[in-house]
Amino acid sequence: MSSVASASDETVRVPIVAVVGRPNVGKSTLVNRIVGRRQAIVEDVPGVTRDRVSYEVTWSGRRFTIVDTGGWQPGAGGLSARVTAQAELAVAAADLVLFVVDATVGITETDAAVAKLLRRGDKPVLLVANKVDSAAGELDTGELWSLGLGQPYTVSALHGRGSGDLLDAVITALPSSGAGGEPETAPDAPRRVAIVGRPNVGKSSLLNRLAGEERALVDAVSGTTRDPVDAIVRIGDRRWRVVDTAGLRRRMRDAVGAEFYAGLRTDQAIRDAEAAVVLLDAAEPITEQDVRIVQKVIDAGRALVLAFNKWDAVDADRRLALAREIETELGHVGWAPRLNISARTGRGVEKLAAALETALAGWEQRVPTARLNAWLSELVAARPHPVRGGRQPRPLFATQASTRPPRIVLFTSGELEPTYMRFLERRLRETFGFPGTPIDLSVRARQ
Ligand code: GDP
Ligand code: GDP
Repeated sequence: MSSVASASDETVRVPIVAVVGRPNVGKSTLVNRIVGRRQAIVEDVPGVTRDRVSYEVTWSGRRFTIVDTGGWQPGAGGLSARVTAQAELAVAAADLVLFVVDATVGITETDAAVAKLLRRGDKPVLLVANKVDSAAGELDTGELWSLGLGQPYTVSALHGRGSGDLLDAVITALPSSGAGGEPETAPDAPRRVAIVGRPNVGKSSLLNRLAGEERALVDAVSGTTRDPVDAIVRIGDRRWRVVDTAGLRRRMRDAVGAEFYAGLRTDQAIRDAEAAVVLLDAAEPITEQDVRIVQKVIDAGRALVLAFNKWDAVDADRRLALAREIETELGHVGWAPRLNISARTGRGVEKLAAALETALAGWEQRVPTARLNAWLSELVAARPHPVRGGRQPRPLFATQASTRPPRIVLFTSGELEPTYMRFLERRLRETFGFPGTPIDLSVRARQ
């Protein structure tokens, strides 16, 4: 509890480890071995379509996402072209590549082509010689050094031989920047919420109402370096941690430079929180400043709830006008839960809990790679990117690299137009939901 100020600096994404190699070398068997669950189906029939997904793995306290690229179906061409295209995408997508070869077969031309490509890439690569089921097999791995990828890790994905050493090597080779992982939340710690909005919308009134309902729980925790004071309040049947309530309680608007100071506090509170409630004054027209604060939450990648306060002061005419304003000013955040509340009367305040839960669930939602790609190929077939200057960029694969907020990486054969990106995001939400959260959709284009 005392580490709130430091625990939430930046959301760091979980590193991606991509497994590449020819069909049948044992990629999905290896992924199953590493994940430690028999989830992906491995069949004894070469070339059968299997459900390839990405899994989150924790080893020695490090977390990473492992992706089996076997399910990706890049363009046409012979086997070698397909496997190298896959490897190319893996290099673009991943922080570390596991290149798997079949030690019982030895190095094939395809293996050599992939190795060449991997050597040129700027990502760390571990060479995995699979199907070394017994110590005797170790002797035959000498030729693997000729691939120029360093020491081969001999494993038997089927029996588990050597997989611990391989995982240790994976952890060592992962870029250290990802070490902290995402800001962790202890399982039953109160979720961190920021109440933000321009001056006078009723932030302190709302806090006082929330705190007032269970005064005993207002448990001010003073930080050591800054002076944030977080309050624990109860909304619904859950406890929530409202961050930086000092910024809400203080009468800052009389002070010199108050606007600037208030802006900084808003930024800090958003960064410290997992979800932000942006409070607006429903009785007044939506202002540019309201929209800016909403944008801050989106840019910071936090879950978002919009609460229209002072609903007690809203009449029928105002209600109509507000609906129009919401459409024009906040139409781009139609995915955020919206509530009408009155901090003065208490109306609707308890509904904040469900709205926050929804937004946090969207923020933490994860879509398996296989589902994402099934969706993508169907969508792209039905609505291809428009042809521009004789070229037609094509999204090839997608993978969700991390959550909190959802980050989705699209691998494409060229840059996508902003309108097409918005179209994809819209359809992504229609299919998978992601309520109450910005989605970080990025593109890695193959040149
Ligand atoms: P992928 O196409 O690269 O994903 O390969 P699979 O994981 O589907 O494996 C292909 C075949 O190789 C399957 O019949 C596996 O049972 C077999 N296999 C995978 N790993 C090993 C291993 O370590 N030793 C042996 N003997 N067979 C393996
Ligand atoms: P802050 O600057 O955002 O913290 O706003 P305050 O909580 O100080 O509220 C600004 C003014 O709005 C005060 O005069 C409050 O009494 C008033 N106010 C706050 N909530 C409501 C509400 O739900 N209804 C009405 N009618 N007035 C409210």
